[in-house]
Amino acid sequence: MEIVYFNGGFLPKENVKISPDDRGFLFADGIYEVMKWYKGFFYDGESHLQRMKRSLKEIRISWPGEDSFLNFAAELIRINNLTDKYALIYLQVTRGASPRSHSFPDPAVTPTVYAFAKEIIPSRVLPLQGVRVMLKEDIRWSRCDIKSVALLGNILSLQEAQDKGLSECIFVRDGFITEGSRSNIFFVIDGTIFTHPGNNYILSGVTRKNIIRIALENGITVVEEALPETKLEFVQEAFLTNTSAEISPVTELGGRIVGTGIPGPVTRMLREKFDAEIQAYKG
Ligand code: PMP
Repeated sequence: MEIVYFNGGFLPKENVKISPDDRGFLFADGIYEVMKWYKGFFYDGESHLQRMKRSLKEIRISWPGEDSFLNFAAELIRINNLTDKYALIYLQVTRGASPRSHSFPDPAVTPTVYAFAKEIIPSRVLPLQGVRVMLKEDIRWSRCDIKSVALLGNILSLQEAQDKGLSECIFVRDGFITEGSRSNIFFVIDGTIFTHPGNNYILSGVTRKNIIRIALENGITVVEEALPETKLEFVQEAFLTNTSAEISPVTELGGRIVGTGIPGPVTRMLREKFDAEIQAYKG
């Protein structure tokens, strides 16, 4: 039986009751967070906690229990017998239930908090093979830095990519590459890594942050500058990062083969260093 976390307690998923007045349902008025369990620890749980707290602050939701996230997440793993598995924890926090009105409930209502654990079987093939992705105008709002549950722009774009047999949709805003529908993107040109700066036009990924650190530790120059679409022809390597897939080499982008069409040396080196960090990780 799947046990989930709901408003302070653990219960079977089928016993969760969320009001039709919940502002998450009515307005997508909420945030979420995702972190990964590696057979015994959460990788960089602290950064996920801090990002979740920042998202709440940016949309002015006050959840007094926010600091309990890492504890109940670990408990969810234990109760669902996932301790020696790979799993993702999803946390959803909305402004709570209140009769429909655009304005915030006054006085404030208790936020709705829901979290679940999902086992994942990591792909051994994709990180080596690479993925093909499409390019499209960024149709999202301009606060992509908030990990909002309002993901319509992301899901419509991802679906468009998948309908074409591609793995991800990469967004272009005013001629510059921002990020993917569910990933950050990096480019390698003459040994230098380029990625969009961590501003309001991207979700600043926890994996992104750690990959930048690992690249710098290994003597690679990282430039946090948006790449113009017109420079794509000079890109020798590209890769995506996110919590679940970690690092995915991109072999085809917007119909053009990237580099030699196979994962390049910088991408492979970062993948190896990331794997080594996971092996040595102490939580
Ligand atoms: N950008 C978007 C739009 C995403 O949905 C994600 C995945 N949550 C990321 C970037 C990568 O973030 P992270 O590395 O923290 O998973």
